[in-house]
Amino acid sequence: MSRYYEHPETALIHGGISTDERTGAVNVPIYQTSTYQQDGLGKMRGYEYSRTGNPTREALEKLIAELEGGLAGFAFGSGMAAITAVLSLLKSGDRVLISSNVYGGTFRVLDKVFDHFGITYTIADTADLAKYKSQITADVKAVIIESPANPLMTVTDIAAVAEISHRHGLLVIVDNTFMTPYLQKPLSLGADIVVHSATKYLGGHSDVVAGLAVVNSGELAQKLAFIQNSTGGVLGPFDSFLLIRGIKTLAVRMDRHVENAQKAAEFLKHHPAVKTVYYPGLPDAQGYEINRRQAKNGGVMISFELHEGYDIRRFFEHLHLIMLAESLGGVESLVCHPATMTHASIPAEIRRQIGITDGLIRLSTGIENIADILADLSQAITSAKQ
Ligand SMILES: *Cc1c(COP(=O)(O)O)cnc(C)c1O
Repeated sequence: MSRYYEHPETALIHGGISTDERTGAVNVPIYQTSTYQQDGLGKMRGYEYSRTGNPTREALEKLIAELEGGLAGFAFGSGMAAITAVLSLLKSGDRVLISSNVYGGTFRVLDKVFDHFGITYTIADTADLAKYKSQITADVKAVIIESPANPLMTVTDIAAVAEISHRHGLLVIVDNTFMTPYLQKPLSLGADIVVHSATKYLGGHSDVVAGLAVVNSGELAQKLAFIQNSTGGVLGPFDSFLLIRGIKTLAVRMDRHVENAQKAAEFLKHHPAVKTVYYPGLPDAQGYEINRRQAKNGGVMISFELHEGYDIRRFFEHLHLIMLAESLGGVESLVCHPATMTHASIPAEIRRQIGITDGLIRLSTGIENIADILADLSQAITSAKQ
């Protein structure tokens, strides 16, 4: 089908399979079915069983492939199911490099599950290219990058890491959850595979758990389709519908999210009680120039620390509007405490080495009126003073 648009905002609404050809319904129906009638032996109408293929899920898979500029997309029951499927491309004896601030669950699945199958990992410094190069040993077959990485918002030069990695035959995997294709397109920077926790900004309303993967080659598409069907962690039709619905408003949500995040980061930066602020949209942030080159802006996620004499327990307890919760990317502002929540599965010693202190607070700025968000932060910081 020819496309009559050029811009990402339009692709979010009209990309993939956006209408129902049979009825003209402007939304793809929820095909809540597990199986499909066959017209005769071996005569299928394109679908045979919903683990293998479902029209609602397929609409979502085509949409995310188009948005990321890839060849094929795959939808899973969670971000971790997507990451697990992608890691299943590896074999016993293979080693994976993971950027030091990788999502806690990605670390855990490698450390505690894939180790059963003889797949090992090394925590690599993808933000330091010379150091990164020295960590590529003969058994390394893949690298997982997050940029900005959770929770210190460390920026990695995706194109540079992809170039070095490809010289050694590595598979380059980018977890693009924090940025979404609206702000950053890793495949265009040289990545082979993009993964998402679509639970976050793509869904956008904290009402669905889902994962996506997009590949840039026919060979990878075939392999991942085989793994998706064999291991079976697929996304259901209703959740696929919710995700398509969420993605339609991604541009307007992200524009407001980022505008609010930039203001919240500047507010925190100038607050006398705040010791450090990590946000790639601040000109003195680590990797600011690299991020500006490879992404539309600094994204939404901010981490910060309060000075000595401020009790973070009291800070969390005194927030009225901003909720203390795991996750991020919904329309509502959320805070979390990485050391005991999102990154608790990383041993304390490794946490300290990579800079995740016990005082670190992570903020997912929502799309509420920024004045209300800043007022809540301000009064909770005041209440936290000992
Ligand atoms: C949440 C998250 C995941 C895991 O996704 P789930 O949908 O919770 O399984 C992976 N990577 C990042 C960066 C995340 O924030």
